[in-house]
Amino acid sequence: MARILIIEDEENLANNLADKLRAEGYSVSAAADGEAGLDKIRGEQPPDLIVLDIMLPKLDGLSICRMVRRDPATAHIPIIMLTARGTEVDKIIGLESGADDYLPKPFGLGEFLARIRALLRRPGVRSAMQQDEMESDDLRLNMTGRRVFKGEQEIKLSNKEFDLLAELMRNRNAVLSRDLILTKVWGYDYFVDKRTVDVHIRWLREKIEDDPSNPKRIVTVRGVGYRFEG
Ligand code: CA
Repeated sequence: MARILIIEDEENLANNLADKLRAEGYSVSAAADGEAGLDKIRGEQPPDLIVLDIMLPKLDGLSICRMVRRDPATAHIPIIMLTARGTEVDKIIGLESGADDYLPKPFGLGEFLARIRALLRRPGVRSAMQQDEMESDDLRLNMTGRRVFKGEQEIKLSNKEFDLLAELMRNRNAVLSRDLILTKVWGYDYFVDKRTVDVHIRWLREKIEDDPSNPKRIVTVRGVGYRFEG
């Protein structure tokens, strides 16, 4: 069942859309302002599709859209934008910020559902979200149980070590900067020393590398950050 997140501050509209989607069998959550919406997108269970109003308290829809697209963990999530204004200019801005579709208010619920279905049918939309296990070589992560195995042996990781490893594996073969890692693992507005990342990487290497002094899985990319080889 696809999870749909509605970020909309007009309560009546949000409720109507949620009811309609639930009646169609979707699992729906809602947020009434931009910050709450972003928290849900970045939470434990990211949505499979986002219905995003443009004019929102705290953080506007266009900013959210850009942030979602910039983040490798959420970049693939389809976004349909809603706006009260419905001008050509808005449409262009909406699509340029990375939205997949655009619906000017007022719109019919039938039209809304048709657009949602079309977006969810797009190939590849759900593949990244459905992963409960991640594997690389003899390393295996179980996401729901938060357990890690190297071959047959279970490896005990702290919460942060697990989140860090999951983040690296989710973006395997891509370089992640310390900033991005801090944002993803420690929270985007959390103030932590960047060296915290290095320290956790070292601990992680001691647990998952065959030879921690010559790491083959988590490699350092000088001046940039880290990359998981897999
Ligand atoms: Ca609004």
